[in-house]
Amino acid sequence: MTLTHPAYGQLRQVTETAAVLLADNPGQMTLDGTNTWILRAPGRSDHVVIDPGPQDSSHAAAIVEATGGEIALTLVTHRHHDHTGGIDRLTELTGTPVRAKDSGFLRGSDAPLADGEVIEAAGLRIAVLDTPGHTADSVSFVLDDAVLTGDTILGAGTTVLDSSDGALTDYLSSLDRLVTAGRGKALLPAHGPEHPDLEPIARSYIAHRRERLDQVREALRVLGADADAMAVVRRVYADVDKKLWVAARSSVQAQLDYLRVHG
Ligand SMILES: [Zn+2]
Repeated sequence: MTLTHPAYGQLRQVTETAAVLLADNPGQMTLDGTNTWILRAPGRSDHVVIDPGPQDSSHAAAIVEATGGEIALTLVTHRHHDHTGGIDRLTELTGTPVRAKDSGFLRGSDAPLADGEVIEAAGLRIAVLDTPGHTADSVSFVLDDAVLTGDTILGAGTTVLDSSDGALTDYLSSLDRLVTAGRGKALLPAHGPEHPDLEPIARSYIAHRRERLDQVREALRVLGADADAMAVVRRVYADVDKKLWVAARSSVQAQLDYLRVHG
C-alpha cells in the first residue's frame, strides 16, 4: 500500500532520496504536524535529517528506528520549537552533529549555516539558501530534485510571519529566490503535503501577499493611516475563521511595517 500524507509515525518515501516522518503534533500553526525529512543517497546507509521536530520521545524514537541511528548530520530550517524541541533527545540517542543558522542550536559543530554554502554529507549535496521572513533565521535546503522550504512555503495554506523577527520585505525576496531555486524541483515543506513543482506554488504565494497588501492599503484608506493591526484584521480577514485572527494580526503588523517603508 502506498502511504499518503498524513501518515503519523510511519516513514513515507517521497522522492528517490527524501522520506518524511510526520510528528504527532497537529495544531493551528503546525497543520497536520511537523514533517521531519530523512534523506538518504542511493547505496548509502547513513542519513541527513532535516528538523528533529518537537520535544516528543516517541518521535525521536521513530527517527532513530527509521535511520538505524546512522545520522551523519542534522540540519534545522529555523528556530521554532516545533522544529528544534527534539534536538537534544536526538543528539543524546544518536550523537548526530546539528547545524542551524542560529548558533544556539549548533551541536558538535561551531559553524552556523551560511547562505550559498554547499554541504556534502552522507553522499548528498545540499545547498543552503537564506530565506528569512517567517523568522529572521529561516533557511531552505536545495537538493538536485527538491527544495526543503521549512515554514517559508507550506504544503497547504499560507505562512505566518513571526511578530518578533519576521519581515515582509525579507519574505517577498525569499519567495523570489524560491521561484528561481524551485524551477523543476519538488516542494518538501515542514508542514502539510509535498508538491511535485515548487515554482508555481512560490509564484502563488507572491500573488497572495501582493493581494493582501492591496487589501491592507485599501483598509488604511478607510480606517486612516495610523489604524492598528487588529482593526485592519477585522476588515481584511473578515472572510477568515476568527480563531486565526491572532495569527493574522502578526502578518498584518508585518504588512503595516512594510507599507510604512515602501508605501
Ligand atoms: Zn515556524
